[in-house]
Amino acid sequence: MLGRGIEIKSPDQIDVMRRAGLVVGRTLELMRASVRAGISTAELDAIAEDHIRSSGAVPSFQGYQGFPASICASVNDEVVHGIPGSRVLADGDLVSIDCGAIVDGWHGDAAVTVAVGAVPDDLTRLSRVTEEAMWRGIAAARLGGRVTDISHAVEQHVRSEGSFGIVEDYTGHGIGSQMHQPPDVPNYGRAGRGAKLVEGLALAVEPMVTLGTKDTALLDDDWTVVTADGSRAAHFEHTFTLTDRGTWVLTALDGGEEMLRQLGVPFGGR
Ligand code: MG
Ligand code: MG
Repeated sequence: MLGRGIEIKSPDQIDVMRRAGLVVGRTLELMRASVRAGISTAELDAIAEDHIRSSGAVPSFQGYQGFPASICASVNDEVVHGIPGSRVLADGDLVSIDCGAIVDGWHGDAAVTVAVGAVPDDLTRLSRVTEEAMWRGIAAARLGGRVTDISHAVEQHVRSEGSFGIVEDYTGHGIGSQMHQPPDVPNYGRAGRGAKLVEGLALAVEPMVTLGTKDTALLDDDWTVVTADGSRAAHFEHTFTLTDRGTWVLTALDGGEEMLRQLGVPFGGR
């Protein structure tokens, strides 16, 4: 452990996190392929749980502070932490699916937003800007830099693309032997602050962006976070680490190699 409760992983431990990350990445690919009008979020959850368990991993969300499912499925104005259930997806919906898995005690955590059928252009744009902001944030991380270098890059990208709300009530986080660890990784703010970025640190970067304001509310189920103004929201997330050779996105199937190359960042995977 470094100061502030930050867990530093050995290369061997990062390799196990990569195995967990691949289970998460493949599960989310399966979710993308399964999302369609007429499927319920409970059915998506069952598909995800089956895939995670048959991969030899454990769904980390199940039982996390009492959460009853293996994925979060957040539809339209739901930002994060939606509980899968009888809700049936319809054309024009935007569904954010968040997934976590544990392999041999080590965690992976990632999320995607998927359009159901044809959606209006502003929703396609919201989703694209959110995903790009996540990648810009990851690409801003360098050994010797600081956590809020990521935050600043996320915010800069969203602001440069138009008028969006950036959710501040929830943040990215450190990850390793627990899903949520210090440090927090906010999606806004000045660069050059917070914990130093060192080898063996692993972070989940997860911008939550809306077509309205940044403000959120909690539904009566005590889990589902919605936009306060009813506007649509998107959420993307990856878990990444920094090696002596560059950046390694542990929950991306290709380790992030292609996106990092496009952004001019050395790929640090093994
Ligand atoms: Mg997540
Ligand atoms: Mg997370």
